[in-house]
Amino acid sequence: MGGSKVITGRCLCGAARYESPGPELFSIVCHCRDCQRASGGGGVPVLGVPRASFSGIGPIKQVYTKGGSGHSAVRNICIECGSLLFGTPESAPDLVTIYAGTLDDCAAFVPNAALFVSQRPPWAALAIPLVEYERMPPPDDAS
Ligand SMILES: [Zn+2]
Ligand SMILES: [Zn+2]
Repeated sequence: MGGSKVITGRCLCGAARYESPGPELFSIVCHCRDCQRASGGGGVPVLGVPRASFSGIGPIKQVYTKGGSGHSAVRNICIECGSLLFGTPESAPDLVTIYAGTLDDCAAFVPNAALFVSQRPPWAALAIPLVEYERMPPPDDAS
């Protein structure tokens, strides 16, 4: 996506919206079982942005589930239509993880890594080159 373009997105019904001035911190696809069950897909494409400058408006509900870290994974959904919009993980309080399918310009999202490929079903591999991690990237290699 690049540049200083404001990142915007919305849910399916349009009642809930968000925006971020960026910068983009990372672009990945997470194939963990939690993301699969939460989304109904084989993985969730995620764009990381700073939380301080992120804003979400509309009927947004937070859903808490215990993540692998022992902290809660927090998924923000539209109450009206149920769209998964973005994550606000307790384990990374400076971060918002936008679910890239909700971006207004989702074709501009370019993931560069796949996480939790050990839990990825064979039909969910993407046909683009990605760095693959069995689970999480090492701490210094998250971008
Ligand atoms: Zn909605
Ligand atoms: Zn996941």
